[in-house]
Amino acid sequence: MSNDNLTHFGFQEVNEGDKEKKVAEVFDSVASRYDLMNDLMSAGLHRLWKRFAVAQSGVRKGARVLDIAGGTGDLSLAFAKRVGVEGQVLLTDINNAMLTHGRDRLLDRGYPVPATQCNAERIPFKNDVFDCVMVSFGLRNMTHKDAALAEMRRVLKPGGRLLALEFSRVWKPLAPLYDLYSFKVIPKIGQLVTHDAPSYRYLAESIRVHPDQEGLKSLMESVGLEKVEYFNLCFGVVALHRAYKF
Ligand code: SAM
Repeated sequence: MSNDNLTHFGFQEVNEGDKEKKVAEVFDSVASRYDLMNDLMSAGLHRLWKRFAVAQSGVRKGARVLDIAGGTGDLSLAFAKRVGVEGQVLLTDINNAMLTHGRDRLLDRGYPVPATQCNAERIPFKNDVFDCVMVSFGLRNMTHKDAALAEMRRVLKPGGRLLALEFSRVWKPLAPLYDLYSFKVIPKIGQLVTHDAPSYRYLAESIRVHPDQEGLKSLMESVGLEKVEYFNLCFGVVALHRAYKF
């Protein structure tokens, strides 16, 4: 088999066809405790990172927003509050367990956001329909990130914005401490809370093989996104990339 068919699943090299299955296993396993784990692992910081992303979106009342890899729906909820009844938010995810959890959670809070199960590499919507497309902590798990980004660009209206919130490359002096936390502490928390340390080991590994800030910026430019910029959060533990379609 040629190397072209291999991709990363954390630090493992796997066949491209197997990555989707393995990522699905991770999210099937963690879905029910996903929100709790996010709060525990980040000490609640993920809420601030997401709030910052929404603040940078420029989304106003009446806007149409697409939440890609939206999972349990944190971003969909925040955007639904912003766009009001005049606007529309669509929650999407490849994983049925995460999506169902997200859809139900939004309904419980009084936001009946439509949910669509789909792969970000093949978005089932027409060209030029969304004011904003958001992908939060999802891109890292995708097999063909360039194809997914091209699809996100395709469905944006001219003038629309893409926001990608993702783990990135931490400021070098902090790397040893961050490595210790992510490779030693996080899998232990995962084991205690979800009885699944390997899924949280995958989380730590997948961050290391994901493009860094400049790498993701170049990837976005390579699919025709413009005016790409990024904001480092917590010394680059996370970065928010913002880009436009013109
Ligand atoms: N956006 C949510 C958040 O910020 O809390 C959930 C992020 S969760 C870490 C990653 C999500 O990406 C999972 O729900 C997973 O099912 C989804 N995902 C992975 N690969 C995908 C793909 N190719 N297309 C769409 N969603 C995908």
